[in-house]
Order: sequence, then structure tokens, then C-alpha cells
Amino acid sequence: MQIQWYPGHMHKANKEIKSSLPDVDLLIEVLDARIPFSSQNPLLAKLRGDKPTIRVLTKTDLADPAITRLWQDFLEQEQAVKTLAVTTKHPDKIRQILDLCARMLPEKAAANKVIRTMIVGIPNVGKSTIINVLAGRIIAKTGNEPAVTKQQQRINLKNNIVLSDTPGVLWPNLESPYCGYRLAVTSAIKDTAFQYDDIALFALEYLLKNYPDQLQQRYQLPELAREPLTVLEAIGLKRGCLRAGRQIDLNKAAKLFLTELRAGGLGSISLETPEMIVVELMELATT
Ligand code: GDP
Repeated sequence: MQIQWYPGHMHKANKEIKSSLPDVDLLIEVLDARIPFSSQNPLLAKLRGDKPTIRVLTKTDLADPAITRLWQDFLEQEQAVKTLAVTTKHPDKIRQILDLCARMLPEKAAANKVIRTMIVGIPNVGKSTIINVLAGRIIAKTGNEPAVTKQQQRINLKNNIVLSDTPGVLWPNLESPYCGYRLAVTSAIKDTAFQYDDIALFALEYLLKNYPDQLQQRYQLPELAREPLTVLEAIGLKRGCLRAGRQIDLNKAAKLFLTELRAGGLGSISLETPEMIVVELMELATT
């Protein structure tokens, strides 16, 4: 799968982040709990240094809780990093970000000094949703299609915290070839950038290995074939995705399956684990 990120955009974001960082006390890095590695912006990982950072894992209602826990432990191994796992289903947990900011910068908090924070993350990861919860009103527009351009805003929050949003548009981690697929499965990459059946087959292969029971249960499949294509055909047949002549419409079946997976219809599913990523990166380094 080929994904294009425009060099012009990337240079601009690079410059904007570099110039914003010195004025920031703490970063709020937003990651999708289902894909904390693939949804990370690689530039930020480089530029962060040891700036205090809260990594907020979003959409945990869709992710596997045991794997989210593993990710939290893994991500907190880095210096000056704390994590919070959140979902819009529990806005109180999102509001804990503010208390954590104060706890991570105790001297500023004790002296009642302003804490300057910046929320960063790739499009569609849930930044606007968090901004709105923290502000207690609708400030940022949310939507499930990646944004293209927007103006940076600055918002005053409680505890003397000032929040600026992501300068420019950040791109995801495409270090390993699998990252693009995982981003597409979670709809972090625009639907027009890929073929539905391609992504569905990738997701099915992963689910067959890691979540076979959820797959079988959701589609009431008496037995589970080993081949992703056979499973996709079985889903198409079950759900009446047919063309003239009773041929299975694979594209329709793929779209239906992905829509249900993205909405949590197959249960809480994480698409990558720290262990998987370590192995993939090692493989990449030796090829
Ligand atoms: P942004 O582009 O990073 O600002 O992301 P948005 O805040 O616009 O969110 C992108 C999409 O993810 C929207 O459709 C949100 O409704 C959805 N979303 C955000 N947080 C959650 C969550 O905790 N759970 C679920 N299921 N969806 C979420």
C-alpha cells in the first residue's frame, strides 16, 4: 500500500514544532490505544527530548484492556513520560490530564505559575474530543475524517494550564510496512487511499491469529477457515453481500467488516503490541 505525505507539509510542521517547543512546559501526546506505535508521529519522538510528556491513549473502549496496560508500561519506560488511558465514555478520566499536568510539574503548580502545554497527535486520533472535554465546551471541531488544514488555538484551562493545539498536520509512523495497514484499519488514513479488500484481508489475517473467537462469534461462523479470503467470503455470504448471479461482492463484504470492526462490533481489539513492534523493527533493521 502506497501512502503519500507531502514534503512541503512535513517541512512546515517540522519548523512549527521546533519553534513552538521552547515555549512549552509539557506535551500531551495523543495516541490511539489500538495502535500506539503506528499513531505516533516520528518527528515528535525525535524532537521531544526529555520534555515532560503525558501520552494519552484514546479510544480505549475499542482497544483490548490487557494490551493497553502493556503499552502503558512500555511507553512509561521513557524518561519523563506518564500515560493515561481514556475514552469518551468516561470524560472524568480525560479531565485527570489536568491533575497529572500539575503533578508532573509540582514546582510550577505549587507556585501557581502558568503551565504551558501543547496537545499533539496525528489527525483523527481524538485531540479535538479531548480539547472539548478539558475546556468544558465545544471549541474544536471533531469528525472521523482526517483534517487537512487548521489554525492553532490557545485555551486557558483550570489549574493555570494553558493548552495550545498541534501546530500543522502531523503524519503517522510509517516505519514498518504494517503501520500503514493498521492506520487504515482504524480509519486514521483516508478511505480513498486504499482498497477495502486489501485492508480487510490484512485485518482478518491478524484477527484469525489473535482474536479468532470474536470473529467467529460476530459472524456466527460454524467453523473458521484458515485463509483470510475464505473468511471474507463467508462473511459476505452470511451478510448477503452478493452481486448478480449470487457472486460474493468482496468489496462490499470488506467494507461491512471494516465498518463493524472500527465501531467495536467485534469487541475490544488492539492491533499491535509492544512485543510485535520490537520484533518488526528488529526485522526491518536486518533487511
Ligand atoms: P482529531 O482529528 O485528533 O481532533 O480527532 P477527533 O477528536 O475529531 O476524533 C476523531 C474521531 O474519533 C471522531 O469521530 C470521534 O468521535 C472519535 N473518538 C474520539 N475519542 C473517542 C473514544 O474515546 N472512543 C471512540 N469510540 N471514538 C472516539
